[in-house]
Amino acid sequence: MRLFDTHCHLNLADAFPDPAEAIEAAYEAGVSRLLVVGIDVETSRRALEIADRWEGVYAAVGLHPTEAPRWNRAAARELCELARHPKAIAWGEIGLDYHWMTSPAEVQRECLLEQLHLASDLELPAVLHCRDAHADLLRLLESLDEPPPLLLHCFSGGPDDARRAVALGALLGFDGPLTYRRNRDLRELVASLPRERVVLETDSPYLAPEPHRGKQNRPSLLPLINQTLAALWRVDPGESAARTTANAERFFGLA
Ligand SMILES: [Zn+2]
Repeated sequence: MRLFDTHCHLNLADAFPDPAEAIEAAYEAGVSRLLVVGIDVETSRRALEIADRWEGVYAAVGLHPTEAPRWNRAAARELCELARHPKAIAWGEIGLDYHWMTSPAEVQRECLLEQLHLASDLELPAVLHCRDAHADLLRLLESLDEPPPLLLHCFSGGPDDARRAVALGALLGFDGPLTYRRNRDLRELVASLPRERVVLETDSPYLAPEPHRGKQNRPSLLPLINQTLAALWRVDPGESAARTTANAERFFGLA
């Protein structure tokens, strides 16, 4: 089995003081590709440092919507610089977070829009975070003339949001919540999506899948999420692994 963890934060030093152990365990578990995602300049730099040292490990650079107050010319310049690294394969994570609301919606939208333009200019796909903001996010994405390729990570929207995302050509990423018992609607939604649009992620250290819910998550737990997907698709786990990995490799230009 060959799995691709399309969203993890091995760059968060508190959770992963030494990411080596987590990466070795991931390889063991069949997770041979990992995307380490930045949330600000420092964690984007650390994502690249990690990607630089391990095979199959890549980085996304960007400023998370909860960090939008820190968006300025200097941050943009530094992130663009980091994005030139050969192992920087995406811009992110960027988006809208109306749950924490660390800055007004207007500020978040501006921060998102500018970064989407940078991603397009640099010909990088964008990794998007969205919490309680699907209406605004989709409206903004639909208004773009030339959006970069889009991946909606940890998808938490409804069927109509998913339909609009698919119409935009987006991929949708699914993680631990897919395995939580009460998330019947989410499983139904995933089962109804075109299979070429589905990718897997752990969002480590957050959102550990069952039966590890509540503990620190790690990329080696990705097979548990893949098992749930395989059951929904009524296929062998090897088949859902191959399918989602191929989807991700095509999206990130690694195929
Ligand atoms: Zn994330």
